[in-house]
Amino acid sequence: MSPPANTPVRDRLRIAIQKSGRLAEPARALLASCGLSWRESRDRLFCYGESLPIDLLLVRDDDIPGLIADGVCDLGIVGRNVLLEQDGGRSGNGRPSVYREWRALGFGGCRLALAVPDSWDWQGPEQLAGKRIATSYPALLSRWLEEQGIAADVVLLSGSVEIAPRLGQAEAICDLVSSGATLTANQLKPVMTLLESEAVLAGPSTEFDPVRGELADLLLRRLDGALRIRHSKLLMFQAPRSLLPSLLPLLPDAEAPTVMRLDDGDDLALQALCHGAVTWQRLEELKRAGARGLMVLPVEGMLA
Ligand code: ATP
Ligand code: ZN
Repeated sequence: MSPPANTPVRDRLRIAIQKSGRLAEPARALLASCGLSWRESRDRLFCYGESLPIDLLLVRDDDIPGLIADGVCDLGIVGRNVLLEQDGGRSGNGRPSVYREWRALGFGGCRLALAVPDSWDWQGPEQLAGKRIATSYPALLSRWLEEQGIAADVVLLSGSVEIAPRLGQAEAICDLVSSGATLTANQLKPVMTLLESEAVLAGPSTEFDPVRGELADLLLRRLDGALRIRHSKLLMFQAPRSLLPSLLPLLPDAEAPTVMRLDDGDDLALQALCHGAVTWQRLEELKRAGARGLMVLPVEGMLA
């Protein structure tokens, strides 16, 4: 994917994110937590990176894979469902993937599910043979049907897929589901999961040039730190050394604690980075097990 001869080489990194919608705010917040800040253009489509030469392009989520494939953007934050659907469309027939999923970002969780009317007595995928299935994900659905060896009609709809069975357009649907409330409201039930999805940081499957490669590496290192500490807390407490065997297993998903000796006695001061939930209940359990002076601190940054 080399740029046309008359295109100047870009020395800034450009990331496409959703302009508005489910992924817009969490994507910006995550990048901001990596220390990025921007100046917004008047049309609010382009944000010029101020703290680092990393700019944002605000677009529809469906446009993100194409912008990456065409080299207009270097990276994008998009649902795995959109990325794989478009990758299937572009790179089918056994050709290699155009994209690379760099990181799963832990928000925008949902699944691409097959749903059938509540009244169906679901026995298995073979029941779909000869049926019409409405979806906005024709590539992913077609591939799955092929893998299952089932011949069914894929009916492409751009929206409101869930009402297709009631309108007589299809017998089943394949759509994104998070809580399942929309399905229930339409007298449908999910019967198979085709894909577990969440927002991902995606890039091209090809290498970056050295300048943008270095910027991408820096961003990934900060992103790893930000993702790691998102739900992490620093837990500090004191306890006699003899109680450690019963206290340490109570620390929620903790890294090896830093241990300091207090005076000459048996008392220790400990601090542990906990990646699991430090709940009130857990603090009370630690106290009952002999910990004193328990203190929970937020973690602002981490660089491994
Ligand atoms: P755009 O205007 O950018 O095209 P959109 O309507 O296609 O927006 P959203 O509804 O904001 O997109 O969804 C963006 C992404 O959020 C989806 O592609 C999916 O990865 C994720 N998502 C999480 N939960 C759900 C859900 N219940 N329904 C749809 N998408 C969901
Ligand atoms: Zn969209």
